[in-house]
Amino acid sequence: MRFDVVTIFPEYFTSPLQCSILGRAVEAGLVTVYIHNLRDFAPDRHRVVDDYPYGGGGGMVLKPEPLFAAHQALSAEPPAPYVVLLSPQGRVFTQKVAEELAERPRVLLLCGHYEGVDERVREALADEEISVGDYVLTGGEPAALVIIDAVTRLLPGVLGDEQAPAKDSFAEGLLEYPHYTRPAEWRGRRVPEVLLSGHHEQIRRWRRKESLRRTQQRRPDLLAKATLTREDHELLAEIAAEQEAWEW
Ligand code: SAM
Repeated sequence: MRFDVVTIFPEYFTSPLQCSILGRAVEAGLVTVYIHNLRDFAPDRHRVVDDYPYGGGGGMVLKPEPLFAAHQALSAEPPAPYVVLLSPQGRVFTQKVAEELAERPRVLLLCGHYEGVDERVREALADEEISVGDYVLTGGEPAALVIIDAVTRLLPGVLGDEQAPAKDSFAEGLLEYPHYTRPAEWRGRRVPEVLLSGHHEQIRRWRRKESLRRTQQRRPDLLAKATLTREDHELLAEIAAEQEAWEW
């Protein structure tokens, strides 16, 4: 899969794209990320990419000409990119959106800055706007990195089998169960006995139950939407009974 990022701060991406799992995926060619400096597409020799907003008010707005020129130049090469404008006003980025993007051969991420980008970019260039959450960043760069990271770890070969994304939080609509590692006891807190038992079926059942418990406690909205099996309903009944006994 290929990402293209258009930004006024290309240096922002250097270290994250070289580190850890993302760095290895880039190195192995499982994902290709091209970072483009918006200023290279500015029509004037001063490489101006922003201007004052019509109507007054503070802040600057990214001009349409360099963004349209970048889009035109980058689209000349196949496959045609799916164009995402990063914006706090867009569709909220979730695991499901990451899965959708991971199916695309090429995604072009347009990073805004200052007050944002000229509205005509959204109207005429963007296939969609994506937001990484209900808060306002100084620029689209951290949002682009969030998307590249979350999408890349879904690509075949990026994670080992043991870390398969299918087991992660949200993959099945639930939060994941808690994890423990050695030592078996730390400052008076013991790892649940079942995890030390080596009994695979009991461990699977315990993990599913804790996943349901966690989701119910922290994200009841997710649990309400999840597709639950008969076993899940049994486990939820057990959780309710435990809760009742505990309250007594
Ligand atoms: N004035 C804009 C508004 O109120 O909607 C906010 C502009 S923000 C300071 C500058 C740029 O950061 C945006 O154009 C966008 O590219 C990026 N950005 C900020 N928050 C974001 C978010 N939650 N998700 C994705 N991109 C974001």
